[in-house]
Amino acid sequence: MASPTDLRTSEALQVLRRVFGYDTFRGFQQDVIDHVVAGGDALVLMPTGGGKSLCYQIPALVRPGVGVVVSPLIALMQDQVDALTALGVRAGFLNSTLDLDARRRVEAAFLAGDLDLLYLAPEALGSRATVQLLDRGKIGLFAIDEAHCVSQWGHDFRPDYLALSMLHERWPDVPRIALTATATSATRTEIATRLDLTGARHFVASFDRPNIQYRIVPKREPRKQLLSLLRDEHPGDAGIVYCLSRASVEKTAEFLTANGIPALPYHAGLDAGTRATHQQRFLREDGLVMVATIAFGMGIDKPDVRFVAHLDLPKSVEGYYQETGRAGRDGLPSTAWLAYGLQDVVQQRKLIETSDGDLAHRRGLARHLDAMLALCETVRCRRAQLLEYFGDSPTGDCGNCDTCLNPPETWDGTIAAQKLLSAVFRLDRERNQRFGAGHSIDILLGRKTEKVTQFGHDSLTVFGIGGELGEAEWRAVVRQLLAEGLLAVEGDYGTLALTDASAEVLGRRRTVMMRREPERPASTRTGRSKAAAAVVELPAAAAPVFERLRAWRAATAKEQGVPAYVIFHDATLRQIATDAPTSLAELSRVSGVGENKLAKYGEQILGVLADAPA
Ligand code: ADP
Ligand code: ZN
Repeated sequence: MASPTDLRTSEALQVLRRVFGYDTFRGFQQDVIDHVVAGGDALVLMPTGGGKSLCYQIPALVRPGVGVVVSPLIALMQDQVDALTALGVRAGFLNSTLDLDARRRVEAAFLAGDLDLLYLAPEALGSRATVQLLDRGKIGLFAIDEAHCVSQWGHDFRPDYLALSMLHERWPDVPRIALTATATSATRTEIATRLDLTGARHFVASFDRPNIQYRIVPKREPRKQLLSLLRDEHPGDAGIVYCLSRASVEKTAEFLTANGIPALPYHAGLDAGTRATHQQRFLREDGLVMVATIAFGMGIDKPDVRFVAHLDLPKSVEGYYQETGRAGRDGLPSTAWLAYGLQDVVQQRKLIETSDGDLAHRRGLARHLDAMLALCETVRCRRAQLLEYFGDSPTGDCGNCDTCLNPPETWDGTIAAQKLLSAVFRLDRERNQRFGAGHSIDILLGRKTEKVTQFGHDSLTVFGIGGELGEAEWRAVVRQLLAEGLLAVEGDYGTLALTDASAEVLGRRRTVMMRREPERPASTRTGRSKAAAAVVELPAAAAPVFERLRAWRAATAKEQGVPAYVIFHDATLRQIATDAPTSLAELSRVSGVGENKLAKYGEQILGVLADAPA
């Protein structure tokens, strides 16, 4: 005989199949769902794209009462509700964008028990009217999305999130589930403490995103490098390009557009209306590139972002992983690409040195940057290093990052390091001057530039002793020394300076192994063809069918004013094109086709399939 848990499990599984059209749970989804359905509190850590939403949506459908979801992303609530409505789930939201009529309708539906899910902004719970409304209805669970917002490294929403500890005091019998994609163990502890979730069960998924290919390349002409990446590997794909400054966001977006790649800028300097329009277009249209500062991206759950490119060095591994994680939520092959150069290191070090805040704060920033630099300069598997950083234990090399695909050569750079450090040492007496890395390299290469002659540096003993390496190689030497703390950057002008550890190299007590700078940008063709094959994986005959389905989807999405993925995901359309079902029963077996979508679109899809190409 089935135990009560089995019965509930099977109810959850039925909902997964009937409503969402998926066959099986992923990872520990089922464990979380069982736990919350049974009334337990949970803290869920899963990488972006891991499938967090189902962890609270299914319990909300199974448990009596309404699932109340707290989310800071007001601009995305409409899309979330649209996506649920398309599945036949009764969902609504309350936030400041609603007019009075719409608000009344949602409130009435909530009180009448006609909602499965209600989305709220965290600040709503600070309003007495909302709390009283919730008191009058029946709540099945609280879900706290983007739970890292309570952390001090979190976001602007922090005060509202901190107030969420009141949920437990006010509604002690309602289970709570907090979810986040960003958390080192310190953040996790902070979330549990601040949200009064220390008694909750913790579910921590592996942070691996195997479908994302990580690549970090030396920066030469970043925009051109970006353009060839997009042209060669991602034509027609949607993606995000991150830049550090607003100005470079604008320039890069113009550059891509001028080169035939549709791109939109997004940064905090644009007015709210423009930002909202650009975000909406990115979500709704196929194949747009968003060029943005890190102001863009939180909560963007567009599943088919095929690449995330960084034109500047992120400040921390946490930031890098969060940003790159926006690629490939649908599980299909995607690229995370970062171009990084000496100037990035100098600039970031300078920013830290001149930043406000006390010494402890600056040390914190420097530690984060060091971890990021170590990732850039590593000769190991990038993924293994990333996963270790987040406390995972990777099993061997991944085979899907640049170092695995094109193992870099290393060379003994001790002598080069000594030459460079000696040059810096000689210049140290004139440290009030603006001698950046370029000047030291000029001296080593024996170049009589204006500055070199002006200061008489052509008479230094180190002048011209570095002819065995080229300019790019010397820059790589400086970068790696900076990354390893064997060299420092000082002052407003980014003057190079020795560190305590420099002495070990100069005194020959330490060897320095370096990553060889490739002559040409590393070719990742092997990886690319592998990835491309996995994406396309469409029999020749199915490709035109897939295109017809996409056209149908675009028209349908436009008509309804919703993003295309709300109708069906790419992966689902691909499967339909490949299986070519000829009946509704066959169509219903495709992953991602639930009851509601079958009823709504089934006949249309069969029609598109039956249409012989003109
Ligand atoms: P997260 O919120 O963790 O970033 P989502 O909840 O948006 O991730 O899920 C990512 C994608 O995976 C979505 O497209 C979702 O429909 C899909 N998905 C989630 N769970 C399953 C499952 N059990 N089977 C198939 N697809 C799933
Ligand atoms: Zn690897």
